[in-house]
Parts: sequence; C-alpha cells; structure tokens
Amino acid sequence: MNETEQLKAEIQKLTELNGLKSDLISISAHQLRTSLSALKWILKMFIDKDFGPLTPEQDDLIKKAFSSNERMIAFVNEMLTINHTEDSALKYTYEEVDLMGLIDELIFDFSGETYKKHIEIIFLKNNPVKHIIADKEKIRVVFQNLIENAIKYSNENDKIFISVHEQENGIEVSVKDTGIGIPLEAQATIFQKFFRADNAKVVDSIGSGLGLYTTKNIVEYHGGTIRFESSNTGTTFFVRLPLQPTK
Ligand code: ADP
Repeated sequence: MNETEQLKAEIQKLTELNGLKSDLISISAHQLRTSLSALKWILKMFIDKDFGPLTPEQDDLIKKAFSSNERMIAFVNEMLTINHTEDSALKYTYEEVDLMGLIDELIFDFSGETYKKHIEIIFLKNNPVKHIIADKEKIRVVFQNLIENAIKYSNENDKIFISVHEQENGIEVSVKDTGIGIPLEAQATIFQKFFRADNAKVVDSIGSGLGLYTTKNIVEYHGGTIRFESSNTGTTFFVRLPLQPTK
C-alpha cells in the first residue's frame, strides 16, 4: 500500500468511526429522553396532587426533582441537537425480532404518559406476524419514536391504533392517531433533521426534530420504507420492513 492509499484507508476508518459515534449518541439520547419523560409525568402527577395532598416538605422535594429532571431533558435535547448524524455507519447487528412483543413492551413503557393524557393505545393483534430479521435495538427506536409522537401530538382522551400486517416478503406496521395532524405545508419536510411544524411546537416545546430523521434512516438501512397520511384530524405512519434486511 503506498502513502496515498494508506491515507485514504485512514480517512475511511475515521469516517466510519465518526458515524458510529454519532449513531450511538443519537440512540442513547432518544432512550434517555423517553425514560426522563416518563419520570417527568410521574413527578407531575405528584405535583398536581393526583395521588392526594403532599406535606410542604414533600411538595418542595418533588418540585426540585421535577426541575432537575427538566434540566436533564434539556441537556439530552442539546446533545441530540449537536449530534450531526449524517448517516448510519454504525454496524447493524441482525437477529430474529418478535415485533409484536417489542411493541407490547413499548406500550407498557409509555403507560405513564398515556395514563396522564387519558389516551388508550389499541394494539390490533388479529394478524400475528412472522418474526423478522432486524437490528432489535434500532427497530425499538423506530417504534418508540412513532408511538412517542402519536402520544405527544394526540389530544387528551384520544385513542391510538397500532396494527401489523404481513405482506409479500415483509410486514407493515401502522401507528394511527387522531391528534393535531401535520400541516400540509410541513408535510414535505417532516423527515428533515431538526424540522418541527409550528403546531407541534405549540403542544410540545421540548422536541428536537431528530426522531423522524433517525427513524427514516434506520428503516431505510433495513431496506424498508416509511410514509404517512395526515390531515387535521390525525396522522398515520406506515413502516414497511422486509422479512430480512436487504442491505
Ligand atoms: P419532535 O417530535 O421531537 O419534534 P420528530 O422528528 O419526531 O421530532 O418529528 C418531527 C415533526 O413531525 C414534529 O415536530 C411534528 O411537527 C411532526 N410530527 C411527527 N409525528 C407527528 C404526529 N403523530 N402528529 C403530528 N405531527 C407529527
């Protein structure tokens, strides 16, 4: 190998490592944010006295915990913002994934948020599907983002419907909400990094605009597709994944 080739190989390696670092930050930050958000709603329920009155001392401590948690959420959001994930050079690890089980787990993880907003998630299981071969943790991020958004952008007392259908050589998962919808003028840019529609900023000031960007990257890396249909009466996201990755 001559000097130029050696240099090229070195640059290639560094680029790959950089991609690896970016994806790792993005995935960990999203995971962290989900847990911190769950904690936020639990603390908020105490502050709102949903579990009965608190002593002044308890009230003070819970409020301190709440603002400390808010700072952590802001920090994680900052981390997401500075993490310029351009592509997914991170090595994908494929295994058999029980998608129905994974979605069940996610619904359970979000029970604090759904309880607080009186939202019911209805998981239609009449079409049990085959296991797929995928990167489990990344696929978890995909549905975590879609379910998190469906809850965030739903109104109180709404219902969210999730269904899974087997298709030729693949499966399609839909996540349907009856929330605020994606304004027509925002629909072309929804998967762009940092993009947030104005109506979304009103209902949730904390979002990063990176969830759908990451989601699309992961789905496409598996050889799948993501699309949505939206109006001012709600949004449905459709994720199609091959039975095994095509890349
Ligand atoms: P975030 O939710 O953090 O703002 P995302 O990348 O997950 O970022 O989503 C980008 C934008 O897409 C949101 O800000 C919002 O405008 C829009 N969006 C995504 N999902 C929904 C949904 N289910 N209903 C309405 N708007 C949505």
